[in-house]
Amino acid sequence: RSRLLQPASERQPDTHPLTWRLRDDGQVVDLKDYESKEGYCAVSQVLSAHDPQSVIAVMKEANVRGRGGAGFSAGLKWSLTMQGGDMPRGYIVCNADEMEPGTFKDRLLMEQQPHLLIEGMILAAFANNARYGYIFLRGEYVESARVLTQALAEARNAGWLGPDIAGSGFDFDIAVHTGAGRYICGEETALLNSLEGHRANPRAKPPFPGQSGAWGKPTVVNNVETLCNVPAVMLLGADWYQGLSGGRTKDGGTKLYGASGLVNRPGLWELPIGTTGQEILDRAEGLRDGRKLKAWLPGGASTGFLLPEHLELPLDFDTVGKEGSRLGTGLITVVTEDQSLVSLMRNLEEFFARESCGWCTPCRDGLPWTVKLLLGLERGEGEAGDVELLDKLAADCGPGLTFCAHAPGAAMPLQTALRHFRHEFEQGVHYPKGKAHADPIPVGQ
Ligand code: NAD
Repeated sequence: RSRLLQPASERQPDTHPLTWRLRDDGQVVDLKDYESKEGYCAVSQVLSAHDPQSVIAVMKEANVRGRGGAGFSAGLKWSLTMQGGDMPRGYIVCNADEMEPGTFKDRLLMEQQPHLLIEGMILAAFANNARYGYIFLRGEYVESARVLTQALAEARNAGWLGPDIAGSGFDFDIAVHTGAGRYICGEETALLNSLEGHRANPRAKPPFPGQSGAWGKPTVVNNVETLCNVPAVMLLGADWYQGLSGGRTKDGGTKLYGASGLVNRPGLWELPIGTTGQEILDRAEGLRDGRKLKAWLPGGASTGFLLPEHLELPLDFDTVGKEGSRLGTGLITVVTEDQSLVSLMRNLEEFFARESCGWCTPCRDGLPWTVKLLLGLERGEGEAGDVELLDKLAADCGPGLTFCAHAPGAAMPLQTALRHFRHEFEQGVHYPKGKAHADPIPVGQ
């Protein structure tokens, strides 16, 4: 654990809001450690001297953007719940269903700094007038569940959770709800269905959860890292948060960036938002055994492939978007020259096909069909037209054509792989049209 989430060499509260309290031995920052380093100070200050609207105003001014991957303004999201006046009494839900391939940032935050998340949730609850919160946790994150449960008990015993928090008259408590290990549960409306005990199919949006979420009440769903930013923003202010990027980008704050795959030192670092891919790969001490970089995913399997020439771009939400990809979770997966894009895509699409909830046709039928074509190309048994068919299947899964972001997420790496490395796919074509697959429609798969 201590090896993966790496403390910066000079850890300061004013430069490393997420990681400056980390212990050098990698052990959990318990309540005593947390309180000794200004832990729960933001809650004390905000609950005694602020009102919900002013908290939301600071969040908006700081432009805290959602760290789950989409980068939506957290302040704007919070302002939705209050549209019906000051009495929504909804829920705060922390999306901790981290299941994006190549992503492990929220797990390490929860395992090492549970009180940071709890404090962020209390502040979010105060701003949204919520009385109850849920941490929807990926089922496989057994250690996170243990650490969070213990931290929640500590916080409750110390009066940071429960009735009348810090004598403010504000009541709030949190429960951990573990999922059953489905990727689709990370989609916020599928998550809410699952939380309510229903099958995890996504719901139509709008209404957004801020308008009608868990049990029909206004509900804020925020990612773990997003919520972990809130205590420092409240203590040190919007201008400070904005300044953290050091002018690299117009986004503010820091980001947990990471690298995995064939790098020498896989890990996770808190760096100014707008840090480049090259700087992150330098932290990871380059590629193993002198390999050469062919491509990279900037933030998980549902982002688009970038090329070595993109390594100098600032990794922020807008810049990466202009290159046909997106920042996603900010954890880089490297692809080296000796790795096959066709095999990699077959592997990723198998994952996406398996995790589809099956609700809409392009996703339910298109993804298994994609897998079948990729398998053929990987074995050198593809037929003329297969690559064009992949183009079409990916286009049919585009944004706005499916019920949720699952299929567009599956399409993005495929489309960018086809754009940049088309020859690799074409090399798998060995038969004339109609000769390799008698039945191209994988009925019942
Ligand atoms: P989205 O852009 O549809 O929404 C992002 C957030 O903004 C949601 O909470 C949504 O409710 C809110 N929002 C969007 N428009 C709104 C509006 N008009 N009014 C109010 N709120 C609004 O994206 P999404 O489908 O929630 O998520 C896709 C992202 O998830 C991708 O960027 C992907 O990288 C990421 N992802 C992350 C993981 C993970 O494990 N962390 C897994 C899969 C996908």
